[in-house]
Amino acid sequence: MSIQLDFRTLSLTLMLFSIVFGLGMFAYAREHAKFSGIKTIGAGYFLIGGGCVLLGLRHFIHDFASVVISNLAIIMGVILIYRGLFRFLGISLRFERWLSPALLVLLAPVLYFYTFHAPDVSMRIQAFSATFAIASFIGACGLLQQPETRSRSVARMLIAMFLTVAAFFIFRVIWSFYDIPPDDFMNAGLLSSLAVLAGEFVVISSSFATIWMASDELQKELSEIARIDPLTGTYNRRAFDEACEIEFSRSLRSGSAFTIIMCDLDHFKKVNDQYGHHIGDQVLRHFADILKDRVRQHDVVARFGGEEFVLLLPNNNTEQGRLVAEQLRAKTAATQIALGRDINLAISASFGVAQYCIGDSEWSAVLHRADNALYEAKKQGRNRVVVSASADQSLEADPAPVK
Ligand code: GH3
Ligand code: MG
Ligand code: MG
Repeated sequence: MSIQLDFRTLSLTLMLFSIVFGLGMFAYAREHAKFSGIKTIGAGYFLIGGGCVLLGLRHFIHDFASVVISNLAIIMGVILIYRGLFRFLGISLRFERWLSPALLVLLAPVLYFYTFHAPDVSMRIQAFSATFAIASFIGACGLLQQPETRSRSVARMLIAMFLTVAAFFIFRVIWSFYDIPPDDFMNAGLLSSLAVLAGEFVVISSSFATIWMASDELQKELSEIARIDPLTGTYNRRAFDEACEIEFSRSLRSGSAFTIIMCDLDHFKKVNDQYGHHIGDQVLRHFADILKDRVRQHDVVARFGGEEFVLLLPNNNTEQGRLVAEQLRAKTAATQIALGRDINLAISASFGVAQYCIGDSEWSAVLHRADNALYEAKKQGRNRVVVSASADQSLEADPAPVK
């Protein structure tokens, strides 16, 4: 059985893939302007497609275009593909900046020399293949630097693709030393046809990977949006439940404390009734900003519902939680929200603090105690912090609030 892989037909299919995927990438980049690098990848495909057109016109157009320009266009296309992938993934490879242009600058005179001064198809194949191998290797090296958090499985697939292509072109260089030198590149045999297939492999897998990475990013963004309260920008109850679940397991393992603060704006209904829902929303955003400004990176602020917010403070005991709540209370009470030229709206909030206690079988037990403490704060006259003493629900009122 002999495999018939016609070089011209394969070049035509590579050209078709490259141009269709190139157009697709440009259209995708227009719709999703926030993803950088996609146009660069598309430009890479166009260069490969253009190179294939010139390559397929061998003997019909001048050799300068069908040999020198076509080969340079294909290599430059590969460089643009991995540069686009690097940009997409936020990778910067210092040595790549000068190495990629250097590859093109070196390849051009070699191709010119072995086309017009000492025509030698084998030497041209070796020069082109070695450059393709180095370019693919740089692509793989760059992707290895990819940040941990970004689409890892896609990056691994791309690394495997670039390394396979690099290995193939190295093999082609070595093979050409032992092979009978072809008199015409268009009859250069199976390996030349396989080289075109390697080009198709680069184009197809890189475009597939790009769309995969983009959909990963969009999915991450969507799941983040699903965890955020749109009015205040704090987390929502679902995100808070997840964070508490994780913190509770950590506390069970390590015995470290965590604290939950529940807070609720005082007489908020009056604000709505007096100034309208729109101003009520403004007050909610203002209060949420006070909470977000004060907390540390690992703390979680969430809107529990209506004008009720909740904070999770990992690695904090009751006393630390009480201090945070007291600062938040004082800051809220000192706030004047400007509603117009002469109208300043004063607000206040009540806070309930509870700490995880050994013996709590669920994190919701802590939440329940914080809620009871908040209820007590409301009962004691509002604008104050009440700390839940322990799991047995006995409550200890905070001394008079600092005003
Ligand atoms: P207390 O001091 O006892 O907490 O009194 P309150 O008036 O703050 O509490 P109450 O539960 O009686 O009223 C809460 C109000 O919050 C009623 C509801 O209309 C309002 N509210 C809930 N969600 C929103 C919202 O998203 N935007 C606005 N503007 N108001 C909201
Ligand atoms: Mg309220
Ligand atoms: Mg309420």
